[in-house]
Amino acid sequence: MRQVTILGGGLAGLTLGLRLRQKGVPVKLFDAGAYPRHRVCGEYLSGRALRVIDSLGLRPGLRALGAVESSDVIFARGNTLLARKTLPQPALCLSRYQFDQFLVKELTEAGGEIFTGKRISPQPQEGVVLATGRQPSSTKQGWRWFGLKAHAHNVDLGAGLEMHLSPRGYVGLCRIEQNQVNVCGLFRSRTAIPDLSSSWKEWLSGDPHSLLSQRLKDAVWDESSFSSIAALSLTPKKASALSGIRIGDALTMIPPATGNGMSMAIEGADTAAGPLVDWSSHRQDWRLTSKLVAGQLDQTFAKRLRHARWLQHAMLDPLTQSIAWNFARIFPFFPSLLFRLTR
Ligand SMILES: Cc1cc2nc3c(=O)[nH]c(=O)nc-3n(C[C@H](O)[C@H](O)[C@H](O)COP(=O)(O)OP(=O)(O)OC[C@H]3O[C@@H](n4cnc5c(N)ncnc54)[C@H](O)[C@@H]3O)c2cc1C
Repeated sequence: MRQVTILGGGLAGLTLGLRLRQKGVPVKLFDAGAYPRHRVCGEYLSGRALRVIDSLGLRPGLRALGAVESSDVIFARGNTLLARKTLPQPALCLSRYQFDQFLVKELTEAGGEIFTGKRISPQPQEGVVLATGRQPSSTKQGWRWFGLKAHAHNVDLGAGLEMHLSPRGYVGLCRIEQNQVNVCGLFRSRTAIPDLSSSWKEWLSGDPHSLLSQRLKDAVWDESSFSSIAALSLTPKKASALSGIRIGDALTMIPPATGNGMSMAIEGADTAAGPLVDWSSHRQDWRLTSKLVAGQLDQTFAKRLRHARWLQHAMLDPLTQSIAWNFARIFPFFPSLLFRLTR
């Protein structure tokens, strides 16, 4: 069988490697960084990827690491509780520090070869899958987007996931392993992004008197878990308009407010695996393989990418926030509908 080379060892690349190894395909994976490491992520895995996790037989291992299953969500703005919802299916919450490291172990045991500290130029070519994560973008319509993440102890939550909205963006709180809470925010700024290394706690802790600041008043922060990213591109892209095989954020980023990016990375890997097995077994050429993968990815993700824009507005734009949440008071099914449409 022909070897598949994967560039990028986040959730997309590692899941693809695992699925291909299950089918006997030789796999080499290169990652620019090292494991374990912290990443900016809400660490809230919900949606169709959970089926992929189960079909790969990963759930018992994730549970053993302390992954928390949570199905209730509350939304708050300032000191007002806007809504409380129950998810149709529990989400799985585990730090990326543990999750990625676990997948590395599984892939290595399955016979995949992993090379860390290797940044390879992401050129589309035969036998190579690009899973290199988000592509940085310059300012869009004057807005600069940035994300912050840190773990904290000593935080009491009113639900497995809490989403706190503010005029600057939003912060999600999610219970993860070892009684820690992931505190992750997405913000936008019209001016240059401030020095976050000294001000991240202030950004993540919200305005004084907000419900968010009450939740975090006694937080004991794990300083080593702090991570940040900037220059996010949230404009959806179509696989069929790009060259090569791309999965995860290397293909497109769904607005993080949906909490569906990890699911798309895992689902995309699973979708790409079938045609790649056929290429590896000499049953079809690379051109057809790339075309089949792109068509399936576009079909799978088109609807949720379209609707995610609305959810993003409802979470981040102060005016749309008010309209959307007043609407949600009159029509309580509205948040659940948006949630369903972005999965
Ligand atoms: C603020 C924020 C909050 C989020 N919250 C959630 C959430 O709660 N739930 C959810 O489902 N999703 C969330 N997401 C989205 C989710 O984190 C991403 O969609 C997901 O991590 C994408 O996985 P990936 O494997 O495509 O990319 P990554 O996890 O970014 O992995 C890409 C890998 O490629 C490597 N790499 C890059 N370039 C090269 C190169 N040239 N050569 C070799 N290696 C390379 C990098 O080192 C990296 O390890 C959030 C995102 C943000 C920004």
